[in-house]
Amino acid sequence: MIHHIHKYLRLLPFIILIFLCGCKESQASGALEYEIEITYSTINVQGFTIKITESLMDNSEYYSGVSLLHERLAVVVDVLPKSEIDFLKQNVIIWITDESEVYNIANVEYHKSAQWLINNNLNPDKAKGIEIHTFNTFIEWTKDQPFMLLHELAHAYQHQYLGDDNAKILSAFNLARDSGIYEEVDRNGVLEKAYAIANEFEYFAETSESFFVTNDYFPYNRDQLKSFDNNGYLLMLDIWGVVE
Ligand SMILES: [Zn+2]
Repeated sequence: MIHHIHKYLRLLPFIILIFLCGCKESQASGALEYEIEITYSTINVQGFTIKITESLMDNSEYYSGVSLLHERLAVVVDVLPKSEIDFLKQNVIIWITDESEVYNIANVEYHKSAQWLINNNLNPDKAKGIEIHTFNTFIEWTKDQPFMLLHELAHAYQHQYLGDDNAKILSAFNLARDSGIYEEVDRNGVLEKAYAIANEFEYFAETSESFFVTNDYFPYNRDQLKSFDNNGYLLMLDIWGVVE
């Protein structure tokens, strides 16, 4: 699990109010004690809202990080259908954070639930957003996983638009898992269990990577997906509304 520490200085009046009222701690106030003085600046990259911890803007990685974000999001905007990309631009904020003093593991992830964030001492504003833990992580991880933003955006699309209980995805995942084809696949010359088979969410995100761009596991691309896992390929055509 992940542990961040924050303080909501902007919520200080409410903390005082809660104290003065002698109120019982509410769900929302659970996060208050953990927030530190983090302020975010907002920039627009390829139509996406990016919130960056202000202190990172003085960081030596800032300019290379922002330029890499431009480059990687340009690919996403280029390959995904327009209506889907418009939905993601409107509904998914990308957070570049820095909790290095209190939280020393690298991290890139899509956050589903505000309550989960509160329970893990994280800022609940990041719910339904993608968090990149420092530009340094993004720059380093992009070398091996150049399309991780597309992967995380696929998680966001499934969660916010398709629904976590989407029957088509679950059915295709069950078929793929039961067939056993993903138990051993190539990853840079080594046979491994595919990440796609971890659960239906990773199946959707990983298959989207193979379909639109390049995956770091086999099937690496659309042609390979089509011949290796035709159900997954047909799912991509159907869900993303792509015409062959
Ligand atoms: Zn994932």
